[in-house]
Order: sequence, then C-alpha cells, then structure tokens
Amino acid sequence: MEKLYVTRTSLPPFEEYCAEIRDLWDSALITNMGVKHQRLQQELETFLEGPLTLFTNGHLALESVLEALELPKGSEVITTPFTFVSTVHAIVRKGLVPVFCDVLEADGTLDPEKAEALVTESTAAILPVHVYGHPCRVEQLEALSRKHGIKLIYDAAHAFGVRYKGTPLVRYGDASILSFHATKVFSTIEGGAVCFADERLRQHLEDLANFGIRDTEHCERVGGNAKMNEFQAAMGLCNLRHFQEEIGRRKAAYTLYRELLPPEVRLLEPREGTEPNYAYCPVVFGSREQRDKACEALLRQGIHPRKYFYPLVSDFPPYRSCAGDGTPAARSLSARILCLPLSASLSPAEVERICLSLRENL
Ligand SMILES: *Cc1c(COP(=O)(O)O)cnc(C)c1O
Repeated sequence: MEKLYVTRTSLPPFEEYCAEIRDLWDSALITNMGVKHQRLQQELETFLEGPLTLFTNGHLALESVLEALELPKGSEVITTPFTFVSTVHAIVRKGLVPVFCDVLEADGTLDPEKAEALVTESTAAILPVHVYGHPCRVEQLEALSRKHGIKLIYDAAHAFGVRYKGTPLVRYGDASILSFHATKVFSTIEGGAVCFADERLRQHLEDLANFGIRDTEHCERVGGNAKMNEFQAAMGLCNLRHFQEEIGRRKAAYTLYRELLPPEVRLLEPREGTEPNYAYCPVVFGSREQRDKACEALLRQGIHPRKYFYPLVSDFPPYRSCAGDGTPAARSLSARILCLPLSASLSPAEVERICLSLRENL
C-alpha cells in the first residue's frame, strides 16, 4: 500500500507550470524581483487584503521583520514553546531573548493572561503563533501590546487563507509572517512573506531581502539576500489559482475525520469566528502512552502522522537554560498531540482506515 504522510504537497498540473515559466526562457530574467515576483505580490496583496513583501522562505521573513522593527538588542520577546523551532531561532539569531509563555489547552495558542504576567521593563515584543492556523486571542493580545507599548508580531506560517471575524488573520498585529514551504497549504516550493500594517516598513523589508540595494548606484542599508526567485513565484501563481478548490478538498477530509474519530480522542479545533484553512488535523489523546501506541500502530501500516509539536522547543539543548517550567499546558498538549495525515488528495477510504486503526489501538 502507498505510504501516507502528514501532508502531501499540492502541485498544479504539470502543463500549467510549464506554460507559466515559458516566458522566463524568452526573457532569461529568472530572479531579482521580475515579472512573476511582481505579479504574485500583487495577487497576494489582493487576496490577503493588504501590503506584504515576499521572501525566499518563511524563516528569513521572520528574521527580517524582527530586524525591521528595530527592537533593541538584548530585549525580551514573549513567545510559545509549542511551535516549530524556526520561531525561537529567529528571535535568538536577531540578538533578542526568548521568554517562553504557556498556551491554552483549548486550541494550543498563546495564553494572553500568562503573557501579560511575563511582561517586564525589557520586553520589546510578543511573538505568538497561530498554531495549526488557529487564531490566537488577537483582541486580548492587541490590548496587551497597546497597554505596554510593545510590538505584536505573529508567526502565521500555518495560517495562509484563514480569516477571523471576516478579516484575513494576517491583518492582525503589527506584522505577520507566512511560510510558503512545500509542506504548507499554499506553496511556492520554498517561500514566505511578511504582511505588515504600516506601509513604512516596506522599504526596510525590501532592503533586507536584497542587500539594501535600491538601484545600480545606491546601497542605503546593510541587507542580506532573501529574495524569492521567478520559479518560486511562478509556482505560487499556479497554486493560487487552485487554492480555494484545494481547501474545499481538505475540508471534506477534515469533516469526515470529525465524524469518524473515536470519542476518546479530541480534535483540536479553532475557536468561533474562524474560517479555517484545514492545514492540519491535530488530535489530543488521553495520555502520552495512548498517543505513542496509536502513532506506532499507524506507522506499522505505512501511515506517518507527526507529533507536532513534540518535544517543546524549550526542551531542545539550545533553549534548556531559558526554559523554567512555567508551561504546563504546553507540556501536557505536547505529550498527547498527534497530527493525522491531511491533504487535498487524502481519500475518504484513507480517512476511514486511519480512524479504524485509532479505534483498534486505544
Ligand atoms: C514552516 C514554519 C516556519 C518556517 O517557514 P519556512 O518557510 O520553512 O522557512 C516558521 N514557523 C512555523 C510555525 C512553521 O511551521
């Protein structure tokens, strides 16, 4: 039987991609913010209802926005240990200090009350994660950031296309980063973006993505290279055409999971007001032993779920010294979570097979 992974990359029809890159051979202009880059940026600004800058991946988008917001070196950034390591690496690589805050058991997002208790004189920003595309408590976090005069930056790597209370989720906070990695719901092979609220950030972000070069004779800032190339942008243009249809197919599989999951496991769902993107199917077991047993049984059948996010980032060697143990909810979720396979190509029979295996191995 064919192996099933936690996700399967959505690709456009081969001919469609070939047609999209045809003119790149005519012009031989394959990077440096060419026509595909410009078009993708415009189309995404329309789709996501506001300004953004493209990057070659989500991680560099995050490092760049932390730099562009000019947070004082050595200042603290409140974040979650229940995330992909990229979130915390970006903080440290920009000379900032991560402070781990607990999450809510209900959906895995940052607990705003616990975040407030962690604010000190040295806090420069909060960096919550819309984990699995679940919207954070955006209103409370907004109020918190205003009250203390600190920046609010979201890691929205999982949240492409999610809307909350009628607005694209990436429009909350001072800025949000997206990842367009092949494993995410919308992909440019590798890729990412910073969505921002203040237009004045645009120039700084573009400088960081392209050596600070404005034109052939002007370099205005110390910048690196984090440009998205034309082949990435072309993939994005193709995938964007199919995005709604892909989400519809993901939704069908997710809905069937909801129906067939055994009552002993809890589907971790986004809260009310969310129009989801069905990026992941995270389920919580009663205990770590149950989770591990179910996971091993699936693996024996060639089904590869993932323990997103286990271990906690604060348990990895580089972060052990700053961990403390103030994140019991994150720890408990992390020990019991399993992300089941979910993609636009997952069939009803496959969902049934996975749910049957769960039932038989509880
Ligand atoms: C994927 C991911 C990133 C990094 O994005 P890349 O495009 O792979 O660099 C950052 N944060 C989270 C939560 C992610 O899942």
